[in-house]
Amino acid sequence: MVLLNDGRALPQLGLGVWQIDNAIAPDIVISAIDAGYRLIDTAAGYGNENGVGTGLRRARNKFYITTKLRNEDQGYDRTMRAFDASAARLQVDVVDLYLIHWPCPQQRAYIETWRALVELQKQGRVRSIGVSNFMADHLERIVYETGVVPAVNQVELHPAFQQRALRKIHERYGIVTQAWSPLGQGAALTNPRILAIAERCGRSPAQIVLRWHLENGTIAIPKSANAARVAENIDLFGFELTSDDHAVISRLDRPDGRIGPDPAAYGRIGLIRRMTRRLSRI
Ligand code: NAD
Repeated sequence: MVLLNDGRALPQLGLGVWQIDNAIAPDIVISAIDAGYRLIDTAAGYGNENGVGTGLRRARNKFYITTKLRNEDQGYDRTMRAFDASAARLQVDVVDLYLIHWPCPQQRAYIETWRALVELQKQGRVRSIGVSNFMADHLERIVYETGVVPAVNQVELHPAFQQRALRKIHERYGIVTQAWSPLGQGAALTNPRILAIAERCGRSPAQIVLRWHLENGTIAIPKSANAARVAENIDLFGFELTSDDHAVISRLDRPDGRIGPDPAAYGRIGLIRRMTRRLSRI
């Protein structure tokens, strides 16, 4: 468990369910919880909150559920309504962690959106509130404007993209870093340096990368729809990385290592602009 700045705690490993179809989500969630997972990471935008909720209702153990606000639902009133819809689909009264999915700075709405999350937490509908894909200036603005520091910032983070500067800012504010695409969407698993460490430890490359996240204090939410891999990804105990292993992985960080979109440019308006530009070329 990792302690948050609001006094609550979250498991350090969770299952990410992006691109998992709503129809198979219940079975995947149940088998993950049976395998020992206690944190499930979804989002309104993944289209599977309902299936995840159905799986969680059948779970026999305690769990933590994260969901995220869609970009087009930013704004105070829209956020309040979108949260109600997410909670209804998930079939829960209280969500453990609610995140703003992307800052979408061009929409100029993330501050009022953050105020809505603060209100949802005050009302007891959300236990912890946080953000995702926020860069240093977005974090600084919400803290300056509202005085409320997010508990978590969920960002792209894997050996090829280690987010060192942002993590320093998180440390300064007491924000827990959550790593999305913690395996680099699978790319980290074929890296020869990771393979060599895996060979020496007698572990799989995924276990090496996830162990690296845990030892760095980040929360990792790897995705898999394969039961054997889901189990493998949580079997991270009984071995440790050496300081040399950390030094080796540390050198895999690359300035061009980002896989996903740049949060400074990503969002609804950016998308509309890109589509208009593309159409004007036809
Ligand atoms: P990931 O790094 O978790 O990699 C997933 C890929 O690795 C899949 O192809 C999977 O089959 C493969 N894999 C998983 N375990 C493996 C194993 N043991 N051996 C071999 N291959 C294995 O990438 P992801 O799915 O992009 O990210 C994980 C989660 O992060 C998502 O499901 C979602 O919940 C979250 N996410 C959040 C955002 C955001 O904007 N907040 C963006 C992307 C993803």
